[in-house]
Amino acid sequence: MGYGGYQGPVCDFHTHLHLRLHRQDDGSWGCCPRRRDPLEPLLRGVLWRMFELMRYRYAIGRRSPLERPLERSLARILRGFPAETAPDLIARMDAAGVDRAVVLALPPIVTNEDVLACCAGHPRLIPFVSPIPPDLPEAETGPGGGDPERQVDDLLARGGRGVKIHPVFQRVRLDGKFVRRVVRRAARHRVPVVLHAGGSGRLFGIGCGFRTEPEEFADLARQVPEARLVVAHVGLWEHPQVLAAVERFPQVCLDVSFQAPSVIRRCVERVGVDRLLLGSDSPIGRVRLVLENLALAGLSADEIGRIVWHNPRRLLTATPGRTGQ
Ligand SMILES: [Zn+2]
Repeated sequence: MGYGGYQGPVCDFHTHLHLRLHRQDDGSWGCCPRRRDPLEPLLRGVLWRMFELMRYRYAIGRRSPLERPLERSLARILRGFPAETAPDLIARMDAAGVDRAVVLALPPIVTNEDVLACCAGHPRLIPFVSPIPPDLPEAETGPGGGDPERQVDDLLARGGRGVKIHPVFQRVRLDGKFVRRVVRRAARHRVPVVLHAGGSGRLFGIGCGFRTEPEEFADLARQVPEARLVVAHVGLWEHPQVLAAVERFPQVCLDVSFQAPSVIRRCVERVGVDRLLLGSDSPIGRVRLVLENLALAGLSADEIGRIVWHNPRRLLTATPGRTGQ
């Protein structure tokens, strides 16, 4: 299967398993407490379908008036996605010609244990683990008890090949102590750190409007210059602000999930092709659509090959080793 003339192997740097947003019972879904959301099929059939037909073009910008209603609708759509297992993901990869996929943990929706166990049986799946901030209830029962360094050491020793941080969902600041310590530890292990970017807490049903300021990405890159950071989705509809914040840091890469061909083109012009990675956010996003968007962005077969295989491989090659305490 080829895209834009590229015929080689493909690595999707952003996928998930077992999305259990619907099982969150922390009251965060107060706007829609029922298990089965009667509006979800309509929202998915119209709004989400339109978003895909528009090839992930956004009708909103950061803090624009439509952001709030759109995030609320997107939250209901996200919550309606069915659970995904490793065989589901592999079937999806096979259908789109994807060889490898980075599988990101997101506790408590997708636990580290789930991701490590699923990937252990499937060598094509590459597990990324997510340390739990000490003030979340799950930290008490997890390994390391909320301590960032111990969690990173433990989760990588158990097979993690990289780290995921979702600052909005996990309610942490990127320029705060917890994230800085996690990222510093990951850098010592020479593994990359994927950072969710874009949207507010409303998108995940947290409802408090908690969000990451674009400058936090720059602050983190400045504070831990040895870290290899991957900013997910180029910040969704916040891509102008996120690009402006990170473009001067050569160690920061971006995954182009949920971005239209015109934005992918702009990313190439602003940061260069070697800092971009293929990402789909499967099962929510469709990898085939992202691959088509790369071709529609006017990239050559060689440029596509770097984004979908060589850059991901470069980030994944450092083998995690034990660090001194
Ligand atoms: Zn994701």
